[in-house]
Amino acid sequence: MIKYNLHCEYKHEFESWFSNSREFEKLNKKKLLECIYCSSKKIQKSIMSPMVSKTSTKKDDLNKLAKMLENEKKHLLKIRQYVENNFENVGKNLSKKVREVYYNKDSKKAIYGTASQKERNELAEEGIDLISIPWVRKDN
Ligand SMILES: [Zn+2]
Repeated sequence: MIKYNLHCEYKHEFESWFSNSREFEKLNKKKLLECIYCSSKKIQKSIMSPMVSKTSTKKDDLNKLAKMLENEKKHLLKIRQYVENNFENVGKNLSKKVREVYYNKDSKKAIYGTASQKERNELAEEGIDLISIPWVRKDN
């Protein structure tokens, strides 16, 4: 069964149930449908926004969100892979190493590691900006 919102030529709106969309067309062609207010036989389907139940909306939203997160994780994993392949991991020595690289103009070494907020602030004062990357684990 399908419920349609219908309206007549005078814009009277009403609802009616049909077994399928073809039944509506058939009845309408034979002028068997009429406005419940004015009995006009010029009936049209109203365009209506699709209706979904709340539960299915939630589920769809969750699926969508899960998919977005999955994509996001793939992106972040790619970034992680790129960094791992192209940068040298200096771990907790980052702030020390990054200064070496920064002040040695010949050095073009790309490094990554971890720095505390304090270290980051100190580096920022020296004009060294670090980019923080959301580091996703590969296994979850
Ligand atoms: Zn009417």
